[in-house]
Amino acid sequence: MKALEDRILKDGQVLGEDILKVDSFLTHQVDYQLMQEMGQVWAEVYRDAGITKIVTIEASGIVPAVYTAQALDVPMIFAKKHKNITMTQGILTAEVYSFTKQVTSTVSIAERLLSKADKVLIIDDFLANAQAAKDLIEIIQQAGADVVGVGIAIEKSFQTGRQILENMGLQVTSLARVASFANGRVNFKEADA
Ligand code: 5GP
Repeated sequence: MKALEDRILKDGQVLGEDILKVDSFLTHQVDYQLMQEMGQVWAEVYRDAGITKIVTIEASGIVPAVYTAQALDVPMIFAKKHKNITMTQGILTAEVYSFTKQVTSTVSIAERLLSKADKVLIIDDFLANAQAAKDLIEIIQQAGADVVGVGIAIEKSFQTGRQILENMGLQVTSLARVASFANGRVNFKEADA
Protein backbone atom coordinates (compact mmCIF):
# COMPACT_ATOMS: atom_id res chain seq x y z
CA MET A 1 0.00 0.00 0.00
CA LYS A 2 1.81 3.01 -1.33
CA ALA A 3 0.31 5.53 1.11
CA LEU A 4 1.60 3.50 4.07
CA GLU A 5 5.06 3.01 2.54
CA ASP A 6 5.30 6.73 1.79
CA ARG A 7 4.31 7.56 5.36
CA ILE A 8 6.91 5.17 6.78
CA LEU A 9 9.60 6.80 4.61
CA LYS A 10 8.45 10.26 5.69
CA ASP A 11 7.87 9.74 9.43
CA GLY A 12 9.28 6.33 10.45
CA GLN A 13 12.44 6.18 12.52
CA VAL A 14 14.78 3.19 12.51
CA LEU A 15 15.97 2.31 16.01
CA GLY A 16 19.04 0.09 16.23
CA GLU A 17 19.14 -3.01 14.00
CA ASP A 18 15.55 -4.09 13.73
CA ILE A 19 12.97 -1.71 15.24
CA LEU A 20 10.87 0.81 13.36
CA LYS A 21 9.28 3.62 15.34
CA VAL A 22 6.00 4.84 13.88
CA ASP A 23 4.47 6.57 16.86
CA SER A 24 3.47 9.69 14.95
CA PHE A 25 0.80 7.86 12.89
CA LEU A 26 0.23 4.28 14.13
CA THR A 27 1.43 3.24 17.59
CA HIS A 28 0.83 6.36 19.69
CA GLN A 29 -0.56 9.32 17.75
CA VAL A 30 -2.93 7.95 15.11
CA ASP A 31 -3.64 9.15 11.55
CA TYR A 32 -7.25 7.96 11.39
CA GLN A 33 -7.54 8.63 7.67
CA LEU A 34 -4.59 6.38 6.84
CA MET A 35 -5.91 3.74 9.29
CA GLN A 36 -9.32 3.87 7.61
CA GLU A 37 -7.75 3.42 4.16
CA MET A 38 -5.78 0.43 5.51
CA GLY A 39 -8.99 -1.08 6.86
CA GLN A 40 -10.60 -0.70 3.45
CA VAL A 41 -7.68 -2.41 1.70
CA TRP A 42 -7.84 -5.47 4.01
CA ALA A 43 -11.62 -5.54 3.67
CA GLU A 44 -11.32 -5.72 -0.13
CA VAL A 45 -8.85 -8.62 0.08
CA TYR A 46 -11.10 -10.62 2.46
CA ARG A 47 -14.49 -9.41 1.15
CA ASP A 48 -15.57 -12.87 -0.09
CA ALA A 49 -13.93 -14.93 2.67
CA GLY A 50 -16.98 -14.99 4.93
CA ILE A 51 -15.24 -13.17 7.80
CA THR A 52 -17.48 -12.89 10.89
CA LYS A 53 -15.04 -11.31 13.42
CA ILE A 54 -11.87 -9.23 13.44
CA VAL A 55 -9.47 -10.07 16.27
CA THR A 56 -6.46 -8.06 17.43
CA ILE A 57 -4.41 -7.53 20.56
CA GLU A 58 -4.28 -4.31 22.56
CA ALA A 59 -3.12 -1.68 22.10
CA SER A 60 -1.73 -0.71 18.69
CA GLY A 61 -3.75 -3.24 16.70
CA ILE A 62 -7.04 -1.75 17.82
CA VAL A 63 -7.29 1.22 15.49
CA PRO A 64 -6.53 -0.56 12.20
CA ALA A 65 -8.68 -3.48 13.36
CA VAL A 66 -11.72 -1.34 14.07
CA TYR A 67 -11.62 0.27 10.62
CA THR A 68 -11.36 -3.18 9.03
CA ALA A 69 -14.37 -4.26 11.09
CA GLN A 70 -16.26 -1.19 9.92
CA ALA A 71 -15.42 -1.89 6.27
CA LEU A 72 -16.56 -5.53 6.58
CA ASP A 73 -19.44 -4.65 8.92
CA VAL A 74 -18.50 -7.24 11.56
CA PRO A 75 -17.55 -6.94 15.27
CA MET A 76 -13.95 -6.40 16.37
CA ILE A 77 -12.54 -8.11 19.48
CA PHE A 78 -9.29 -7.03 21.09
CA ALA A 79 -7.51 -9.54 23.32
CA LYS A 80 -6.82 -8.01 26.72
CA LYS A 81 -3.38 -7.98 28.25
CA HIS A 82 -4.48 -7.30 31.81
CA LYS A 83 -6.87 -9.15 34.06
CA ASN A 84 -10.08 -7.28 34.56
CA ILE A 85 -12.31 -7.84 37.60
CA THR A 86 -15.32 -8.24 35.32
CA MET A 87 -13.59 -11.12 33.51
CA THR A 88 -14.08 -13.84 36.13
CA GLN A 89 -14.89 -17.00 34.22
CA GLY A 90 -15.16 -18.36 30.71
CA ILE A 91 -11.86 -16.84 29.68
CA LEU A 92 -9.62 -18.14 26.90
CA THR A 93 -5.96 -17.31 27.52
CA ALA A 94 -2.48 -17.62 26.01
CA GLU A 95 0.97 -16.44 27.01
CA VAL A 96 2.31 -13.74 24.72
CA TYR A 97 5.91 -12.56 24.47
CA SER A 98 6.28 -8.92 23.49
CA PHE A 99 9.10 -8.32 21.03
CA THR A 100 9.43 -4.62 21.84
CA LYS A 101 8.85 -4.82 25.60
CA GLN A 102 10.68 -8.16 26.05
CA VAL A 103 8.23 -9.40 28.68
CA THR A 104 5.75 -12.26 28.73
CA SER A 105 2.15 -11.52 29.60
CA THR A 106 -1.16 -13.35 29.57
CA VAL A 107 -3.69 -12.28 26.96
CA SER A 108 -7.32 -13.20 27.16
CA ILE A 109 -10.63 -13.13 25.32
CA ALA A 110 -14.01 -13.93 26.87
CA GLU A 111 -15.14 -17.35 25.65
CA ARG A 112 -18.68 -16.22 24.81
CA LEU A 113 -17.40 -13.75 22.17
CA LEU A 114 -16.14 -16.48 19.82
CA SER A 115 -17.83 -19.66 18.61
CA LYS A 116 -17.25 -22.57 16.24
CA ALA A 117 -19.22 -20.71 13.60
CA ASP A 118 -16.75 -17.80 13.49
CA LYS A 119 -14.33 -17.12 10.66
CA VAL A 120 -11.70 -14.74 11.96
CA LEU A 121 -9.37 -12.23 10.36
CA ILE A 122 -6.50 -11.23 12.65
CA ILE A 123 -5.20 -7.65 12.28
CA ASP A 124 -2.03 -6.29 13.88
CA ASP A 125 0.34 -3.35 13.56
CA PHE A 126 3.65 -5.23 13.13
CA LEU A 127 4.79 -8.73 12.23
CA ALA A 128 8.21 -9.70 13.56
CA ASN A 129 8.44 -13.31 14.77
CA ALA A 130 4.68 -13.94 14.92
CA GLN A 131 4.58 -14.36 18.71
CA ALA A 132 1.49 -12.19 19.05
CA ALA A 133 -0.29 -13.76 16.06
CA LYS A 134 0.50 -17.32 17.20
CA ASP A 135 -0.97 -16.63 20.62
CA LEU A 136 -4.10 -15.06 19.16
CA ILE A 137 -4.47 -18.10 16.89
CA GLU A 138 -4.16 -20.37 19.94
CA ILE A 139 -6.96 -18.50 21.73
CA ILE A 140 -9.21 -18.45 18.65
CA GLN A 141 -8.70 -22.18 18.12
CA GLN A 142 -9.55 -22.88 21.78
CA ALA A 143 -12.97 -21.46 20.92
CA GLY A 144 -13.20 -23.81 17.92
CA ALA A 145 -13.29 -20.84 15.53
CA ASP A 146 -11.46 -20.74 12.21
CA VAL A 147 -8.62 -18.29 11.43
CA VAL A 148 -8.85 -17.31 7.77
CA GLY A 149 -5.98 -14.86 7.48
CA VAL A 150 -3.68 -12.33 9.10
CA GLY A 151 -3.60 -8.69 8.04
CA ILE A 152 -0.44 -6.84 9.03
CA ALA A 153 0.31 -3.15 8.64
CA ILE A 154 4.12 -3.41 8.68
CA GLU A 155 5.87 -6.74 8.16
CA LYS A 156 9.58 -7.00 8.84
CA SER A 157 10.35 -9.59 6.18
CA PHE A 158 13.84 -10.26 7.52
CA GLN A 159 12.28 -11.82 10.62
CA THR A 160 10.54 -15.20 10.78
CA GLY A 161 6.88 -14.27 11.30
CA ARG A 162 5.55 -14.62 7.78
CA GLN A 163 7.12 -18.04 7.27
CA ILE A 164 5.67 -19.27 10.56
CA LEU A 165 2.15 -18.14 9.64
CA GLU A 166 2.34 -19.44 6.06
CA ASN A 167 3.53 -22.80 7.38
CA MET A 168 0.30 -22.87 9.39
CA GLY A 169 -1.59 -22.52 6.10
CA LEU A 170 -2.63 -18.91 6.71
CA GLN A 171 -2.89 -16.13 4.15
CA VAL A 172 -0.77 -13.15 5.26
CA THR A 173 -1.70 -9.73 3.88
CA SER A 174 0.95 -7.14 4.72
CA LEU A 175 0.45 -3.58 3.53
CA ALA A 176 4.16 -2.71 3.83
CA ARG A 177 6.98 -5.26 3.76
CA VAL A 178 10.33 -4.08 5.05
CA ALA A 179 13.16 -5.96 3.35
CA SER A 180 15.95 -4.33 5.34
CA PHE A 181 17.06 -1.38 7.40
CA ALA A 182 20.35 -0.36 5.82
CA ASN A 183 22.14 2.59 7.44
CA GLY A 184 18.90 3.76 9.01
CA ARG A 185 17.06 3.65 5.67
CA VAL A 186 13.93 1.57 5.16
CA ASN A 187 13.95 -0.66 2.06
CA PHE A 188 10.72 -2.30 0.98
CA LYS A 189 9.88 -5.40 -0.98
CA GLU A 190 6.57 -5.71 -2.83
CA ALA A 191 3.62 -5.66 -0.44
CA ASP A 192 0.59 -7.98 -0.60
CA ALA A 193 -1.93 -5.19 -1.13
P1 5GP B 1 5.82 -10.55 16.87
O1 5GP B 1 4.79 -10.99 17.84
O2 5GP B 1 5.41 -10.74 15.44
O3 5GP B 1 7.14 -11.16 17.15
O4 5GP B 1 5.99 -9.01 17.09
C1 5GP B 1 4.90 -8.20 16.78
C2 5GP B 1 4.55 -7.29 17.92
O5 5GP B 1 5.72 -6.71 18.48
C3 5GP B 1 3.70 -6.18 17.37
O6 5GP B 1 2.37 -6.32 17.82
C4 5GP B 1 4.33 -4.91 17.89
O7 5GP B 1 3.62 -4.47 19.02
C5 5GP B 1 5.71 -5.29 18.33
N1 5GP B 1 6.77 -4.96 17.34
C6 5GP B 1 7.57 -5.83 16.69
N2 5GP B 1 8.46 -5.20 15.94
C7 5GP B 1 8.23 -3.88 16.08
C8 5GP B 1 8.83 -2.70 15.52
O8 5GP B 1 9.78 -2.72 14.73
N3 5GP B 1 8.30 -1.51 15.90
C9 5GP B 1 7.24 -1.42 16.77
N4 5GP B 1 6.80 -0.20 17.06
N5 5GP B 1 6.65 -2.51 17.32
C10 5GP B 1 7.13 -3.72 16.97
